[in-house]
Amino acid sequence: MKIAVIPGDGIGKEVMQEALKVLDCLMQHDNTLQIESTVFPWSSDYYMEHGCMMPKDALEILKKYDAILFGAIGDVRVPDDITVWELIMPIRKQFQQYVNFRPIKSLPNIASPLTSTKEVDFVIFRENAEGEYSNSGGQLYQNQPQEMAIQNTIMTRRGIEKITEAACNYALKYGKKKITSATKSNAVIHTMKFWDEHVKRTVSQTNLQLESYYIDALVAYFVERPHDFEVVVASNLFGDILSDLGAAIVGGLGLSPSANLNPENEFPSMFEPVHGSAPDIAGHGIANPIAQIWSLALLLGHIGRPDAEQLVMTAIEEVLIKGDVRTADIGGNSTTTEMGAAICNIIASMQIAQTGGV
Ligand code: ATP
Repeated sequence: MKIAVIPGDGIGKEVMQEALKVLDCLMQHDNTLQIESTVFPWSSDYYMEHGCMMPKDALEILKKYDAILFGAIGDVRVPDDITVWELIMPIRKQFQQYVNFRPIKSLPNIASPLTSTKEVDFVIFRENAEGEYSNSGGQLYQNQPQEMAIQNTIMTRRGIEKITEAACNYALKYGKKKITSATKSNAVIHTMKFWDEHVKRTVSQTNLQLESYYIDALVAYFVERPHDFEVVVASNLFGDILSDLGAAIVGGLGLSPSANLNPENEFPSMFEPVHGSAPDIAGHGIANPIAQIWSLALLLGHIGRPDAEQLVMTAIEEVLIKGDVRTADIGGNSTTTEMGAAICNIIASMQIAQTGGV
């Protein structure tokens, strides 16, 4: 297996180092796991030097890999629309990574800002290719009193079907009973009605139950009864907001991974933490690397090594249960490197099966 690694900017570089150490550690203890990783320097530094976020043939290069492990992007020297639209978006769109998958799961020993002690364990399927984040629109009469801007939401029947099918397939695979759809069809009467119609039809082809909530109510339910959800399907914008809220409910951005999936496997999928480059803490060596390491775990599951994914998750949970190594975001004062090393140590101490992997 070959993976492409793009650490990016800010804490992306710091947390990626720890994820790569974890990968090395896994391979040292399991010779059936052979992954060759190639690190690409595409980032804002690269932009400052070359005038572009990545070379022209970057997608051709990336296409040859089985998966992409991504860090974070964002730098005060480069406008956000350049960092995002010249690096992340081309990869997501050209590689048809139309599923953005985000697990929202309570981890041991991690305080939630909510008072409920019930365990939270659900996933969000966010539509990742169209919807509100379509690059369609423009401005007119700039700098005149009548200036205007228009941004179009594009929803296609196939786009809605595909994200709903991905959510249903996951629910059926993991024995879930219910799909929750985020909508706003009472006010956004064209695209969101269309969303409702095609979500409903797609789910009705399975034996799964469908519940549909207006987004304003759903955010309140996320806070009041997050343990009630199993699989949430949402448009690009709603899914983006819901997943940051979900991350906050279970302990914050430092613990939240995501996957940009091309379910057909025609192109590589990309795995990245939900957080950004965190310029406020970048360079201090205090970022929590768990979101990045969990993203690596999702990648391992995706490329056919669910055993290695489970091992990494067990190691993360054990470190949190022991509790002596904690980064600042989860109430400690350990460094990024110390957290990475603690996870590696647990992996190293686990029994390795003779054959069939870890
Ligand atoms: P983006 O626009 O790329 O989402 P952002 O600046 O809006 O980036 P983040 O970079 O994700 O958001 O940071 C939001 C807050 O969360 C910051 O205060 C940051 O320090 C904190 N944070 C993010 N990731 C981590 C992490 N891995 N460990 C600790 N704190 C983190």
